[in-house]
Amino acid sequence: MRCIICEKERIETSEYCIYHTRARKYLQASHKKWNEAYSTNLTWDQYLDKLSKLESVGIWIKQVIDIELKKS
Ligand SMILES: [Zn+2]
Repeated sequence: MRCIICEKERIETSEYCIYHTRARKYLQASHKKWNEAYSTNLTWDQYLDKLSKLESVGIWIKQVIDIELKKS
C-alpha cells in the first residue's frame, strides 16, 4: 500500500509513509503543547487551520495538514 499523500510505501499501522507519519506525530504532540503553552483549547481542526497559515511550517507538515483538514 502507498502513502495517501505521496507514492512511498506506507508503514504498518498508518495510512502514511514514514515521513508523513513522523510529520503527523509531530503535529499531534505540538497541538497538545500549544494548548498547554497558551492555555487555549483549540480543536485539532482549528489548530491545523492556524498552522497552515504559517510560512515557517515545513512541506511534509503542510501536506499532512491539507489531508487532515480534508478528512473532517
Ligand atoms: Zn508520504
